[in-house]
Amino acid sequence: MANKRDYYEILGVSKSASETEIKKAYRKLALKYHPDKNPDNSEAESKFKEAAEAYEVLSNPEKKSKYDQFGHQGLGGGMGGFGGGMNMDDIFSRFGDIFGDFGGGGGSPFDSFFGGGNTRSRQSSGSNIRIRLKLSLEEIANGVEKKIKYKKNVLDPETTFKPCTVCGGRGQVTQVRNTFLGQMQSTSTCANCGGIGKVVNTKGKNSNSKGMIQKEITTSINIPAGVEDGMQLSLSGKGNESPVGGRNGDLMVLIEEIEHEELKRDGQHILYNLFISFPMAVKGGQVEVPTVNGTVRLKIDSSTQSGKLLRLKGKGLPSVNSYGKGDQLVYVNVWTPTQLTAEEKNLINELEGKSNFLPNPSEKDKSLFGRVKDIFRG
Ligand SMILES: [Zn+2]
Repeated sequence: MANKRDYYEILGVSKSASETEIKKAYRKLALKYHPDKNPDNSEAESKFKEAAEAYEVLSNPEKKSKYDQFGHQGLGGGMGGFGGGMNMDDIFSRFGDIFGDFGGGGGSPFDSFFGGGNTRSRQSSGSNIRIRLKLSLEEIANGVEKKIKYKKNVLDPETTFKPCTVCGGRGQVTQVRNTFLGQMQSTSTCANCGGIGKVVNTKGKNSNSKGMIQKEITTSINIPAGVEDGMQLSLSGKGNESPVGGRNGDLMVLIEEIEHEELKRDGQHILYNLFISFPMAVKGGQVEVPTVNGTVRLKIDSSTQSGKLLRLKGKGLPSVNSYGKGDQLVYVNVWTPTQLTAEEKNLINELEGKSNFLPNPSEKDKSLFGRVKDIFRG
């Protein structure tokens, strides 16, 4: 790491460079050292990789701020994929857009560089699509089938392709070099077609330079019971189609839990704050308590103290990974009136000072405190 070059120096920009300046600088270098322009030039290839690495960091606000503060060490090994150097496929799949989106549409100044708009891709598989899916606690508790709509890139049926002339449609090129050991033969993926063996011939009117169009997709997905906020489900092959064939990307569904108005989730358990009236706390009775599966009736014993915890066994959530369900914990609060009529005030005055109404907690009553977190282990 010690002899790693400064990322700003690599891109030739100042530390105060804007996002656009950084992008421009990278694009310039990427084009200069592009392997198509510098075949069999390992120095150009390493410069191309170096620039991609610098751009990867400086174009990402989080990584950039770490780098600004701590230099290369700040990024440690957690460089998300190219701690040990980026390979060419990584670079094209991550930054391929940078070559295409400049100037937009067909007027890209780089079109000629890529062969007159016949943008080829090294990607042999389509990119992933990420969507967010909001779920209620009730949906999470029982699992749900959700219909979702999203846009994905698909191959344009109006676009035609022609065989790649560089590799003759084989997708691979073989090179023979004379060395002092004799002739050496090496085979590599065709850089012109990305190993697919064909390139765009005529573009359809709605397609981009890769022969792709955007299509709205409706699909339904089964969400297993017990998922958690932040979990990601991956649907294989439901992502973008690859330009010129190849494997589809995946659809990544990020789960977002909608906060419930009354029930609070704690892992597999549910917490509920119950308020009962003072007469009910004294006499006991029945209340209705919401759960993730509708309301249940709950018996309140006579002489119930505020702070009592009641457990509704198995009324929590299932786990995605294991059997069994969590519980619902009901925390009992005795409601103190916030306003009183003159008549009520008189009643309270009568009760005040009567010996039965003076606090006299038993050891058991005192031990309620601190049990909230312990009860889940019990
Ligand atoms: Zn080819």
